[in-house]
Amino acid sequence: MRFDLADEAQVRALLQRHGFSFSKALGQNFLIDPSVCPAMAQIAVRDGADCALEIGPGAGVLTASLCEHARRVAAVELDRRLFPVLREALADYGNFALVEGDAMRLDLAALLREQFGEGARVAVCANLPYYITSPLLMRLLESRLPVEKLVVMVQKEAAERLAAEVGSRAAGAVTVAVRYYTEPRVCFAVPRTSFLPAPKVDSAVLELRVRKAPAVRLTDEAFFFRMVRAAFGQRRKTAVNALSAGLGLEKKAVAAAIAGLGLPEAVRAEALPMETLAALADRLCAAQKTQ
Ligand code: SAM
Repeated sequence: MRFDLADEAQVRALLQRHGFSFSKALGQNFLIDPSVCPAMAQIAVRDGADCALEIGPGAGVLTASLCEHARRVAAVELDRRLFPVLREALADYGNFALVEGDAMRLDLAALLREQFGEGARVAVCANLPYYITSPLLMRLLESRLPVEKLVVMVQKEAAERLAAEVGSRAAGAVTVAVRYYTEPRVCFAVPRTSFLPAPKVDSAVLELRVRKAPAVRLTDEAFFFRMVRAAFGQRRKTAVNALSAGLGLEKKAVAAAIAGLGLPEAVRAEALPMETLAALADRLCAAQKTQ
């Protein structure tokens, strides 16, 4: 019998039969709203990706939707108590593979090659465990995983921050990284009542379309991200103070770089748009070499 994973009673019964209890530490809030998973799966495949990598399939509710829409689906789950649940729930899908492991540790590029073959058109689709939203996104983006897009459910505030314009108040260091690698868009909000158990906050689905080339050209990418972390780590300080302290540069060198870009002396780095951050990083990187 194929489970109707859109039926909350069937999901509850499945979990109960396996003696499963939710772990808060693993961010386990499972989707029970029948409209959300097909909508996420459609966004994942609509631009031509036909393979889907899911992180944290839980009881397989989103996974089943992905299996309906994609040619092949691989899902990485950390909690071993869910392995038998997933095998039972998704037994009828011949296009599904369960990968048992930690998405923060696995070699995901190798996994994609093994599961989908070289050159496959892949989308990541996941209701992310909230305790690792930012580190997991950063891992996926920084490793330049060959994927076309990420369609991820995150906390609503996190979605707004991740999709914010660089230079706006809502932006953080992770916002800069997201814009550097992708074109982000908040797709739709999902109320807390759509989950079992219901979390304390609402969520939103975010579509991150991976750029063919990063948003700006840089002399030294690692230095740029060190500068961004320094800028946003002390965002109340002026750029001169935050960057000289965070990067170990002389104040006068930072002040000269800022003046050279025609910016006011007391500007805060968090107020700068992407292109200006890039230009500043290039100047500071050069200044560091002469210091
Ligand atoms: N996709 C399911 C859904 O939408 O109903 C479950 C989503 S739940 C928010 C997060 C899932 O990620 C859980 O199944 C949890 O066990 C799993 N998880 C947590 N940390 C993980 C990790 N490091 N690697 C892989 N899976 C993880």
